[in-house]
Amino acid sequence: MVGSYKNYINGKWINSKSGKIFKSYNPANGSVLGTFQFSNSEDVDAAVDAANKAFKSWSETPPPKRAEILLKVAEILKKRKAELGKLVTQEMGKQLKEGLGDVQEAIDIFEYMHGEGRRLLGYTTTSELSKKFSMTIRRPIGAVGLITPWNFPIAIPAWKLSAALICGNTVVFKPATDTPLCAVKLIQVLEQAGIPKGVVNLVTGNGSEVGENIVKHPKLKAISFTGSVEVGRSIAENAGLKKVGLELGGKNPIIVMHDADLDLAVDGVLWGGFGTTGQRCTAASRVIVHRAVLHKFLNKLLFKTKQLTIGDGLKCDVGPLINAHQLHKVHRYVMIGIQEGAKLLCGGKIIEGKGNFYEPTIFTNVTKDMVIAREEIFGPVICVMPVSNFDEAIEVANSVDYGLSSAIYTNNVDLAFEAIEKLEAGLTYVNSSTIGSEVHLPFGGVKNTGNGSREAGIEGIHEFSETKTIYVDYSGKLQKAQIEDD
Ligand code: NAP
Ligand code: MG
Repeated sequence: MVGSYKNYINGKWINSKSGKIFKSYNPANGSVLGTFQFSNSEDVDAAVDAANKAFKSWSETPPPKRAEILLKVAEILKKRKAELGKLVTQEMGKQLKEGLGDVQEAIDIFEYMHGEGRRLLGYTTTSELSKKFSMTIRRPIGAVGLITPWNFPIAIPAWKLSAALICGNTVVFKPATDTPLCAVKLIQVLEQAGIPKGVVNLVTGNGSEVGENIVKHPKLKAISFTGSVEVGRSIAENAGLKKVGLELGGKNPIIVMHDADLDLAVDGVLWGGFGTTGQRCTAASRVIVHRAVLHKFLNKLLFKTKQLTIGDGLKCDVGPLINAHQLHKVHRYVMIGIQEGAKLLCGGKIIEGKGNFYEPTIFTNVTKDMVIAREEIFGPVICVMPVSNFDEAIEVANSVDYGLSSAIYTNNVDLAFEAIEKLEAGLTYVNSSTIGSEVHLPFGGVKNTGNGSREAGIEGIHEFSETKTIYVDYSGKLQKAQIEDD
């Protein structure tokens, strides 16, 4: 018997008004993990109401007090890391070490944002008038909507929840339809940590109904969204005047220069390309290799790729894709790559049998105008793109509409710094893969990867708060800025 799970609205676990449910499946074997509420607009309204009612007292709670709950969340997550990490693997598919990493990232961000409870820094500055004091403070925004994807089913909700809550906002949270159980478990942890009723509300259900209702809701003040560019665009159109944070897709390059440590680069490419079965927004899907080392690099890459084990993430290196739709989408892209004239080095097949498994796939001779070099595949597919020099490498790297992560392997410090300057991306790694963000640094991208917002670190605080500017005039007379005295 699997569990049946409910929405969490105003501090209570309740059924959807729709009377409908949906299931979550383990992508490695198709087993059912639980049933969940297929919510509708009435449920969203109830959650928004609860969030608005709770806003006054939560926003007036001193931030260090709010922070105590966040620290408690981190402590509970630490105790339950093994159990929840396994659940991430069972519901999302990534290998167990990464499932545990997902939970660790949540622990880290709750701890970090707990510390922000004693900072939430504004600044003081000078005034152009005497006896006048100027400063800024950070204020909460209000009741906010959070919408998340399935690929980091604990970590991404944790990034948003921790920052939203420490800033004094209340929340309506809609997780991805593919990973509702991880979301329910995380909200149970917040409940156990003592989050007051109405401060966090969970509504499960699909994007076109629950998601759109949240985005359009007149009583929510901000939306924080992580997901695809396509949905991101619709959110920008539907959200009206709300503050909107969009963290969207990527087509992230790793440049391997002629002087790179090739073994190090191969390890980075494997981790970036096939980690999380390529289903990361920061996945290394393009590998731009200097021709002088191409042959040697490919031999090493192929050798190590063949050693990867594919199967249930609890036991293997490369887990399943999230669902059958994604599996077939990846395969369609591989067929397109072959038609476009890219050379298939290995992989390229759906693995028959139970589960959504795809062979780790490497293309070489990929050129920048090919579809497989421009569009986000979100699967275990690496496109190797040979180049003749550094300038060409940068040009190829920047030739896509995305700009999330990027990396360069070189032992030449001049080239490393030039790449840092020239790569069009929100993140650049030197001698390390495209993945590996830490929670105290900002995360986000340029170009179509977003709308300029950043999550995590201090910038995560900025996403979920508004700046208020304060002037205190203690001169005892009417002083006028910009106006000359008579
Ligand atoms: P998605 O299809 O865009 O869905 C993301 C979330 O939006 C889900 O909760 C989805 O609900 C919901 N949604 C769908 N349609 C909606 C609508 N019209 N209005 C409001 N919400 C809607 O993305 P995904 O397939 O879950 O995730 C993969 C994508 O996320 C990739 O493009 C990846 O690069 C990106 N991503 C970006 C980052 C980053 O930080 N930049 C991190 C991770 C992933 P349903 O689940 O019910 O469809
Ligand atoms: Mg599932």
